[in-house]
Amino acid sequence: MKFGGTSVGDATCIRRSAQIVADAARKHPVAAVVSAMSGVTNRLIDAAHYAKRGDRGAGKSLTGSLRKQHFDALATLIQGEPKQAPVQSRIEEILSEATRLYEGTALLQELTPRTLDAISSLGERLCAPIFAATLNELGVQGSAIEATDVIVTDSFHGGAEPLTSETRQKSQMKLGPLLKEGIVPVVTGFIGATADGALTTLGRGGSDYSATILGAALDAEEIIIWTDVEGVLTADPRLVSDARTIPEISYREAAELAYFGAKVLHPKTLRPVLPAGIPVWIRNSFAPEKLGTKITPKGRSIGGGVKALTAIRDVALISVGGPGIVGVTDVVGRTFSTTAELRAEVLLISQSSSQNDICFIVAKAHAPTTLEALRKEFAQDLAHEVVEHITMDPEIAIVAVVGENMRGTPGVAGRTFHCLGQEGVNIIAIAQGSSETNISFVVSDKAVKQALLAAHREFGLGVDGS
Ligand code: ASP
Ligand code: MG
Repeated sequence: MKFGGTSVGDATCIRRSAQIVADAARKHPVAAVVSAMSGVTNRLIDAAHYAKRGDRGAGKSLTGSLRKQHFDALATLIQGEPKQAPVQSRIEEILSEATRLYEGTALLQELTPRTLDAISSLGERLCAPIFAATLNELGVQGSAIEATDVIVTDSFHGGAEPLTSETRQKSQMKLGPLLKEGIVPVVTGFIGATADGALTTLGRGGSDYSATILGAALDAEEIIIWTDVEGVLTADPRLVSDARTIPEISYREAAELAYFGAKVLHPKTLRPVLPAGIPVWIRNSFAPEKLGTKITPKGRSIGGGVKALTAIRDVALISVGGPGIVGVTDVVGRTFSTTAELRAEVLLISQSSSQNDICFIVAKAHAPTTLEALRKEFAQDLAHEVVEHITMDPEIAIVAVVGENMRGTPGVAGRTFHCLGQEGVNIIAIAQGSSETNISFVVSDKAVKQALLAAHREFGLGVDGS
C-alpha cells in the first residue's frame, strides 16, 4: 500500500492512512510505502536552490519549520514521551543531515544532482518513522525502512532506474522476515541507492513507482495506491463536471492516461508489474469505503471503445524544420538523440509525410534546455540553412482520447474531430499510434476545456455505462 503526500499531509491524514494499513495487516501481510508530507519535497528543493546561491538562512529556516511540523504531527499521533522519544531522535538525526547538506551547498555554492537527491529525499525519511510509530499506536507493529536498503538503482540522479534482480534480492532479504512475523515495513517512497550505496531518487512523484517496484519484488498479490481522488476518472473533474470513476481499466489504458497527465499515477508505475500481471488499485485514502479503480492486464471492455480523456498542459511544442530538411535522413535521429541525452521525455511526435517539419512535445520544464541543445546540435545546419527553424510554442496543450477497444473500431477519430470542429476548436497537430489505444491532438491551451467537454459528451462518458 502506497500513501501519497496528501494522504500523509498532517496528523489526521497519517492516522487515517495508518488505520487503513492496520485494518489490512490484521488480515494479510502488508508493506507500506510513504511519500513525504505534502509540499515538503518542493520546499526542500526550493531551499536547495537558495543555498546554491549562497543563502545560508533558507536551509536553516526550513529545517526549523520541518522540525516543528513533524514534531507536532508526532505529538498528536503518539501518546507519551517514552514512545515519542525514539522517533524524535530519529527526526533530529535526519534534520542534522539536512543542516549539513544545506551548509555544504551554501558554502560551495554548488548543487550537484547527487546532493539534490540527498536533499530531496529528506521528506520521505522524516515521514516513515512517524507512520511506523502510528501503526504501533494502533496495535500493529510497524518498522520504518529506508529504501536505500531495498531498492537498487542505476546512478542517474534525479531519475534513477531500478535494477530488478538486485532489488528483488535485497527487498526479499530485508522485508521478507518482517512480513513473515506480521510486522509492517514502512518504506520511504521515491528513493533508492546505487549498488555502492549512493542515494538516488526515482524522479518527482516517484513514490508510486517505488510501490510497484517493491510489490513486484515481493511478489505481492495486489498493490494499492492510496491517493486523494477516487481512482481514475473519465476526465479531469475540475474541467468536466460529470466526469466519473472508471471501475476497471487495463494496464495499457492506465499507462496512456498516466503518461498524458491524468496525474493519478507516475508514468513508470506500471512497468514493474507487467511481467507478473499484478493488479494495481487506485483508491482514495479520504474515502476508503469507495472501491476506486482496478488496473488489470486486460481491463474490462465497455461499448464504444473510448474509456477516458486526458489533457496535459504544462508542455511546449518544439518544431524543427524548413523545406531544407526534406530527404535529410538524420534529422529525426539527431533530434531525438538530443532529447534522449537530456532525458527529456517526448510526449508526442508528429511529422508530415512531406518531411519538412518535425514537431514534438516535451514538458515545459524541459523546453528551454531542449531548445538550446537542439540549436547546438544543428548549429552547422542552421548556418547552412538545411534546417530553417527550431522554434517553441508554450501556449499549447495535448488532449488525448484513450481506450483499448478503440483498436479496430472505425469512426472514433471521425467522431472526435467532428465534435471538435463543431465547437470551433482548432487542431494544431495530431498523433495516433498504431496501437490505436490513443488519439492525441494538440490544441491551444485556451481550448482545452472546450475540447474535453465536447469529446466527453460525444462518447457518453458521463453516463454510467458499467
Ligand atoms: N515526495 C516526492 C515528490 O514530491 C515523491 C512523491 O511524492 O511521489 O516528488
Ligand atoms: Mg505524489
